Amino acid sequence: METKNNKAIDISVIVPIYNEQEIITELYDRIQKTVSQISENYELIFVNDGSKDHSLLELLKLTEIDNRVFYINFSRNFGHQIAVTAGIDKCSGEVVVIIDGDLQDPPELIMELYDKHKEGFEIVYARRRERKGESFFKKTTAKMFYRTLRKITSIDIPLDTGDFRLIDKQVVHYLKQMPEQNKFLRGQIAWLGFRQSEVLFDRDERRFGKTGYSLGKMVKFAMDGITSFSDKPLQLVTKIGFSISFLSFIIILYAIYSHYILNQTITGWTSLIISSMFIGGVQLISIGIIGEYISRINKNVMNRPLYIIEKSNFK
Ligand code: UDP
Ligand code: MG
Repeated sequence: METKNNKAIDISVIVPIYNEQEIITELYDRIQKTVSQISENYELIFVNDGSKDHSLLELLKLTEIDNRVFYINFSRNFGHQIAVTAGIDKCSGEVVVIIDGDLQDPPELIMELYDKHKEGFEIVYARRRERKGESFFKKTTAKMFYRTLRKITSIDIPLDTGDFRLIDKQVVHYLKQMPEQNKFLRGQIAWLGFRQSEVLFDRDERRFGKTGYSLGKMVKFAMDGITSFSDKPLQLVTKIGFSISFLSFIIILYAIYSHYILNQTITGWTSLIISSMFIGGVQLISIGIIGEYISRINKNVMNRPLYIIEKSNFK
């Protein structure tokens, strides 16, 4: 693709923005400074994901001073993964960098990502050595989640990475062909294969605003990751079913033995209630797990547009 001045774009940077008004100027300065060392033919794509503050105004100011800045303004909040996906749909660089818009991912690291790419890796992800200023809860749940995900999927999703990474245009090409509604980009990129490498960094803390990932969003994100890449929960349900059936068979044998041989009939309200509540619980959890998969099938069958653009300066 060609830019306004008919030059091919060497590097695209995609930045999802949700209530980041205080930081957008600094964000632009730091990204621009780093990226222009790589090439003057860059494009910076800011996707405003239904921010409730003045982020859009700040972005519009940037487009005034730099015609290599593009913005996409969503009609509402669609979520971080969808915002990045919109950027991927529009970008045209030889390499594409995905970076958070809250400066927790240092833009200066793009240089290192790019150097690694030059060594011949189509995918270079930034791996957190340390996560500053994040709650114990977030750190431990994230750690547990990624380790579990690794165990139950066959794809190699790198540990301790966010979406901060550099991908080659070939990877972008295939990423665009993945039509799923429930995006889990870091998994999708890993699934594609190619040569992958990493660069280590210390993750800064968020200086302004607060995290856009509420607990609800985090849980949904985790479920998307699991259901998109693993059938293990469904197999687990089957296994639990067989185990419980087997166990109850043994108990039946014991009850018969006890009644006819020992002449002691097993009585008891307690054992009845406990066993029926236990099986009731297991059944509901199983239905819930199946339901999670079905609701995702449903979403994909409906095939609605992933996002709605209210306004943009892309042609
Ligand atoms: N973000 C977004 N939509 C959302 C939530 C977050 O576009 O619904 C953006 C946010 O502006 C930031 C990035 O996604 O650039 C990562 O979000 P955040 O910093 O809130 O997540 P955390 O770092 O706490 O995991
Ligand atoms: Mg953040």
